[in-house]
Amino acid sequence: MNHIRTTPPRPVDVTAVFPQLAPLARPAIRLHPRPGAPSPHDSSVGGPLLWPTDEPWPHCHDESHGPVADEWHEGPIAMVPVAQLYVRDVPLLRAPGQADVLQVLWCPFEHEPDYKPPTALFWRTAAEVTDVLAAPPEPAAVEYDGYEPEPCTVAPERITEYPNPLDLDRELRQQLEGVRSWQAPGADDVCALAPNDSYGNDLSMAPGWKVGGWPPWGLTDPIARFCTVCGAGMSPLLTIASHEWDGSGHSWVPYEDQSLPLDKPDVANPPRVHISRTNNLQLYVCPESPDHPHTSLIQ
Ligand SMILES: [Zn+2]
Ligand SMILES: [Zn+2]
Repeated sequence: MNHIRTTPPRPVDVTAVFPQLAPLARPAIRLHPRPGAPSPHDSSVGGPLLWPTDEPWPHCHDESHGPVADEWHEGPIAMVPVAQLYVRDVPLLRAPGQADVLQVLWCPFEHEPDYKPPTALFWRTAAEVTDVLAAPPEPAAVEYDGYEPEPCTVAPERITEYPNPLDLDRELRQQLEGVRSWQAPGADDVCALAPNDSYGNDLSMAPGWKVGGWPPWGLTDPIARFCTVCGAGMSPLLTIASHEWDGSGHSWVPYEDQSLPLDKPDVANPPRVHISRTNNLQLYVCPESPDHPHTSLIQ
């Protein structure tokens, strides 16, 4: 970590007006990846992993890679580092046993049937990795550049999130959507949102890369995820994003970035990751056991 990012406070405390949202508050940690030169000993997006030399690098052996540049690629594809997160930096992570670093890799191809890059998660104990693999294999081909993240350092920042409007019951959703001035019971001040602000855009979930919190929806209505081994409802682990802000509002832009040309696509997307062009890839884990398989979803 070598930078800091600070999310401005929300324009209004939504729980003062809608107390029924208070029990739904969830912590999230925004990652704020920015181009840099992380080492294997740093948390990073697209950076070098603390990978032991005596452990084989993961490859995707799926048959369906290609065509790339009009050629069908054959053979396994080396998986690509997406994120490495040390628990010391992202304490929301629930590590199994003595493990203290989470590594996320993907195959840089969209796979049928749902056209998402398959992901692999590895938990490690950093102190046990004495010989770090210096030059991991690179993929022989990628579907497009958006699946090769730029190396970024991260600036983990803890925030509080509330559900996506689609995760709320219809009555509450309609109340929230109808509000244009917010006044807490007994308060003198009416806090008016800016004309384009809304619960969904400005008071509920942060856009961009994050651990935990509430998942973004939009391509579909919310889909509950259940563990294929034990049936438990799965928990959002990591949201991998194609941008940290977009034209729908800049209220989540950290103070440190507000002087940038915010509408330039590369500025809003420092890792240059594009999930099926402009979406989010949500990773979910089983809260009962880290040995149960994770799952993913594009939104
Ligand atoms: Zn693959
Ligand atoms: Zn399970």
